[in-house]
Amino acid sequence: MNILIFGPNGSGKGTQGAIVQEKYNIAHIESGAIFRKNIGGGTELGMKAKEYIDRGDLVPDDITIPMILDRLKEDDCKEGWLLDGFPRNKVQAETLAKALSDADIELDYVIEIVLDRKVAKLRITGRRLCENDNNHPNHIAFDAIKPVEKDGELVCRVCGGALTARADDQDEEAVDKRHDIYYDENTGTMAAVNFFKRLGGDTQVISIDGGPSIGEVSEAIMANL
Ligand code: AMP
Repeated sequence: MNILIFGPNGSGKGTQGAIVQEKYNIAHIESGAIFRKNIGGGTELGMKAKEYIDRGDLVPDDITIPMILDRLKEDDCKEGWLLDGFPRNKVQAETLAKALSDADIELDYVIEIVLDRKVAKLRITGRRLCENDNNHPNHIAFDAIKPVEKDGELVCRVCGGALTARADDQDEEAVDKRHDIYYDENTGTMAAVNFFKRLGGDTQVISIDGGPSIGEVSEAIMANL
């Protein structure tokens, strides 16, 4: 099963992606997480990507596209994959579709999590990342997923891991820029979503309201897969 998942930053895309990935036991490829790992490890790729990420800009296509297309060729992708955070613009969408068709690989589903821009922005600043798993949901403003306190520190409500906030989540200008890119229907991420909506063929596009709780959204996704 090969799946793309789209959603604005703050829509719960990463959390939902992790649930879908676990259910189908497929590789979960998150472009943003690959970049963050490289930044943490001080690699050349990480150093190149950091300045773009900190500003909320896209990392250039000539870095991002080969990184993802190479990742899809790895062994753990043979049984299927869930791609999260890529494609992020129209060029990436067209390039991915051509690469898949050239390699005779089916794209089974495209999941779109739909969320109003103002709501997505509100959700971003309070979210916290768990050191053990980025997709453990923790948010300081939502009771259902509030981190827990341990020795005077807030820790992950799922596993007790240490929490951090992403720098690009705390910078309002960077958040706005990421949303400008996401909601742009001409060349941005919504152009990529619309590209797949028009693609036809066997690919099914599922659009789900990202407003309800994590459990309700995942139920709605699962009911359609
Ligand atoms: P995310 O974790 O998906 O919010 O991604 C964090 C940041 O990584 C984004 O704001 C971009 O700077 C960069 N990034 C992630 N995916 C892509 C992509 N497909 N193309 C370009 N830049 C990306």
